[in-house]
Amino acid sequence: QKPTEKLAMDSAPLCPLHFVFIPFMAPGHVIPMVDMAKLFARRKVNVTIVTTPLNSIQFQATIDREIKSGSPIQIQIVEFPFAEAGIPKGCESIDTLPSMSLMSNFNKAVCMMQQPIEELLEKLSPIPCCIIADKHIIYVADIANKFNVPRIIFDGTNCFHLLCNHILRKERVHEDVSHHEEKFVVPGMPGRIELKRSQLPGIFNPGKDMELNVFREQVKESEAKAYGIVVNSFEELEGEYVEEYKRVTGHKVWCVGPVSLSNNDELDKALRIQRDSSHDESKYVKWLDSWPPRSVIYVCLGSLNRAIPKQLIELGLGLEATKRPFIWVLRGGYGREEMEKWLLEDGFEERVKGRGILIKGWAPQVLILPHKAIGAFVTHCGWNSTLEGICAGVPLVTFPLFGEQFYNEKVVVQVMENGVSVGAESVVHLGEEDNSPVQVMKGNVKDAIEKVMGEGEEEEKFRERARKYRDMAWKAIEEGGSSYHNMSQLIEDILHVKG
Ligand code: UDP
Repeated sequence: QKPTEKLAMDSAPLCPLHFVFIPFMAPGHVIPMVDMAKLFARRKVNVTIVTTPLNSIQFQATIDREIKSGSPIQIQIVEFPFAEAGIPKGCESIDTLPSMSLMSNFNKAVCMMQQPIEELLEKLSPIPCCIIADKHIIYVADIANKFNVPRIIFDGTNCFHLLCNHILRKERVHEDVSHHEEKFVVPGMPGRIELKRSQLPGIFNPGKDMELNVFREQVKESEAKAYGIVVNSFEELEGEYVEEYKRVTGHKVWCVGPVSLSNNDELDKALRIQRDSSHDESKYVKWLDSWPPRSVIYVCLGSLNRAIPKQLIELGLGLEATKRPFIWVLRGGYGREEMEKWLLEDGFEERVKGRGILIKGWAPQVLILPHKAIGAFVTHCGWNSTLEGICAGVPLVTFPLFGEQFYNEKVVVQVMENGVSVGAESVVHLGEEDNSPVQVMKGNVKDAIEKVMGEGEEEEKFRERARKYRDMAWKAIEEGGSSYHNMSQLIEDILHVKG
């Protein structure tokens, strides 16, 4: 590519707008931003996704499919400076890092991408008029200033989380408690939201990594200066929190989700992200076809899956005790050898043969979850997984681990009454798992699953609510729905700014 050569979109620009998407490189961040980018491009906004080579390979197929159907969307690549940042080759996503102690190196590499991204943006045609970037890539604020375009941040979570953080920063009630396990009420949150300091995300409950703590402060400052926030949620799910957050901050907020519903046919779902080419994804669907409706438990603790082996063993024994069929995704490098040993030597794999499938890699989650045989989703409450469970109409069994996942558990269990908690008590910071205690016993797992899968009036109510929220989610994203409307408003807003 010669420096002066323009990188033009192939499709004729039906709309004068050109949005640039810059996702942070972790599955829970890249996946929803690519989904969202596809939705904008279907509205005939020109879209460029900027990412690194190995990340691009994972969603090239889904983008190609969009281009074929007429969407003006493209991927542009910036090299990932792994060697300069001291990261092993091939690790361009957080979940592939051999150790969480490399997190600050990873952030360094992301920082080093600023200049190449600027150089890339200079070459784009039509000229970009808006940048939608993950909130963790803070230098996008400088890029947006340089190009004189609005910067919209993608937060990756929901308005409950945004509001709760806003209130805690202001009121600091979590600092008034005598110890980390004491409950307090978050003042000004709709509903009575009780939390413990030990359940709060790192910004209020920091781990030992000081660099990460400083970085979190920088993210917070950069967040406040953004033009607006785009949220992967929908108003029918958490309307009171959306309104209250807008009111107390004055921020522009657009809820445009659930963006995973951009994958509306089987091929879209299978192509959504290609992490594990060795898997024949249809085999899970075939296996699920052999079970009665709502009989199978799906268990996945996210893309990072940092639970310690002793904890995972309790989870496995709980699953076994239900005597129900299950799919258990056991990904992540943490404690892999110890787990493998247990699975084999304790005879777990042998005992559950036929009724339990272990996926020791990447699961095609959005393909599995909506299958009629799935009856419950044991989730770590990452926001993407939570929403994907909601969209599938499946009751959730909540097992939060870190970050803002205890907030998301509140949304599911208390606000929506769409799930049951296994009773995890506190955050285990990433990289500090080694000495963490086992928080959830096999009996807790079994009991929580039975509360949403068993026979009885209460159990049926969970399933009814799950179906109700699924229908609301689909309605929100369809033409005329609240999220569809919010996306139109965002586009209008940027058209107006562009003049
Ligand atoms: N995911 C998947 N297969 C896996 C693990 C994760 O498809 O084996 C996807 C999941 O569908 C979701 C994302 O990865 O879209 C994980 O994001 P989430 O916010 O739930 O959790 P995180 O991984 O960031 O903790």
